[in-house]
Amino acid sequence: MEDGNLLRIPSRATRALIADALVAAGLPPNDAARCAELMTEADLTGADGHGIFRLPQYVRRLKAGGFNKRPQITVKKTGPATALVDGDNGMGHLVMSRAAEEAMALAREAGVSWVGVRRSNHAGPAALYAEMPASRGMIGIYAAVANANHMAIWGGADLLLGTNPLAFGVPSGGAPLVFDMATSIVAYGTVKKYALRGLTMPPGWFVKPDTGEAITDPNKSGEGILLPAGEYKGSGLALMIGLLAGVLNGAAFGRDVVDFNADDDSETNTGHFIVVVDIARFVPLATFTAEVDRHVRDLRASNRLPGVHAIRLPGDRRAECRDERLRQGVPIAAALLAQLDKLAAELTVTPLRGR
Ligand code: NDP
Repeated sequence: MEDGNLLRIPSRATRALIADALVAAGLPPNDAARCAELMTEADLTGADGHGIFRLPQYVRRLKAGGFNKRPQITVKKTGPATALVDGDNGMGHLVMSRAAEEAMALAREAGVSWVGVRRSNHAGPAALYAEMPASRGMIGIYAAVANANHMAIWGGADLLLGTNPLAFGVPSGGAPLVFDMATSIVAYGTVKKYALRGLTMPPGWFVKPDTGEAITDPNKSGEGILLPAGEYKGSGLALMIGLLAGVLNGAAFGRDVVDFNADDDSETNTGHFIVVVDIARFVPLATFTAEVDRHVRDLRASNRLPGVHAIRLPGDRRAECRDERLRQGVPIAAALLAQLDKLAAELTVTPLRGR
């Protein structure tokens, strides 16, 4: 969906702007650098709705008191393989980085871990956290309650479900396989990206709650219901993730979710969970990755349906995108660039093109 109106900016410049802007908005430099690193990873891997695109909103929330700039993130170990992290309303990237580190340490000790998170915030693409264990030879599963309800339960017309994302990361002999999905037909970040780039949405993404008619103008998405991925299956997954990442941790779900697009100063009490599995407790890691590679070769060599030129496995595009964007820069839409220039001026930090 390239629209020809995109500038390529080196990722070192986007990372530096994010870090400087977050410091100017009150985050300690180390925390700002960690958020900038993860947001830049989102941009590099093609999660365009979850990287620098979110910076103006994050700065607004920091300034309005919606995020705690100096959180005391606490970890309560509740059993040999379980822990509950309280994010103290810090930036989601910081809270989830801490939770992922704890989950990996617990899984090294116990073989498996389940870490729940409460009082966190939006943490970007799910792949970031599923990939952390996978790039260290472990399996990662991550899910979160999204920060706005854009969906209804299948057949319903009330916005009580989020696009609750789910990701799996599995090591291979090369880059890990990473599958990362919103439980909606598309992530809401994609809808925002369409609006920013002046594009029309295909029918089948949004419907009007009263008539069921399609909405194709992304600027009118607020009037509609975002449909789930795979009809009732996506709706069922979104519900289960809400119960496991929200209710189980004492975090928000359903009517308690704060729409962070419309509210800059309320605590969102965002919930997440991460599960880590130490492969070596089941089979030696080298045996597992060799088997994964063998199956990947079989899958890639599949006979293909007419019109299919190559088999694409989860994670292929993000890896290619990362290589290409590291070389060519991160594509930034003109409208986003204007927002970022305005933000840089307000915060008296160097704008993107001056870096
Ligand atoms: P996509 O539909 O683009 O992709 C979903 C998964 O399917 C990815 O693993 C992708 O691999 C793979 N895939 C996509 N197309 C194909 C294909 N043609 N053949 C084979 N595999 C394919 O993602 P979504 O729109 O569902 O989600 C976008 C992002 O939004 C995610 O990163 C998600 O975590 C994030 N999100 C975050 C939320 C939050 O609250 N923080 C809420 C909702 C979503 P690949 O990555 O290689 O393209």
